[in-house]
Amino acid sequence: MTLDEVKGLVRNIPDFPIPGIQFKDLTTAFINPSALKYMRDEMVKEYANHGITKVIGIESRGFIMAPAVAMEIGAGFVPIRKPGKLPAEVVEQSYAKEYGTDTIQIHKDALSEDDIVLIHDDLLATGGTMKAAIDLCKKFGVKKIYVHFLVELDALEGRKLLENDAEVSSMIHY
Ligand code: AMP
Repeated sequence: MTLDEVKGLVRNIPDFPIPGIQFKDLTTAFINPSALKYMRDEMVKEYANHGITKVIGIESRGFIMAPAVAMEIGAGFVPIRKPGKLPAEVVEQSYAKEYGTDTIQIHKDALSEDDIVLIHDDLLATGGTMKAAIDLCKKFGVKKIYVHFLVELDALEGRKLLENDAEVSSMIHY
């Protein structure tokens, strides 16, 4: 399996969920055993020696790779979720979306200032979601923040919003 072969398995769905969006559907890559393992292994190679203590997945498509990578690099897994899903005390962050605002939450006892974190999501578009996740981690005073995406939509320049606070890496670029 090569990176190009994995990229070839990503399915483009025009006009989903709203007209004008080219939705990058990764389920067609996840369903392929070799591609699934390739993506996991590439992330493990990249992050194995950074002292990462927690891998954070963003609901919901960030939950697919994050725990698999966490197990391999000897880190814990932490979910960032939409409001009302986490059962204990939370810290939250709101952010602007194209229409209106959205909020994400993390458990108050999930991180500490001793942590080095890797935040993972499937795709970087405008960067709003990941910026909010970074801001959440900064509230805990974590030591260092790495950010990883399987897919980055380069033309939207979401990376610019993130690079001041985190080391950003993406596997596949469009
Ligand atoms: P953004 O906050 O604009 O970077 O959007 C990122 C979030 O929205 C990620 O959690 C993605 O899963 C989802 N998303 C945004 N645009 C797309 C797209 N074109 N294809 C697939 N997912 C997308």
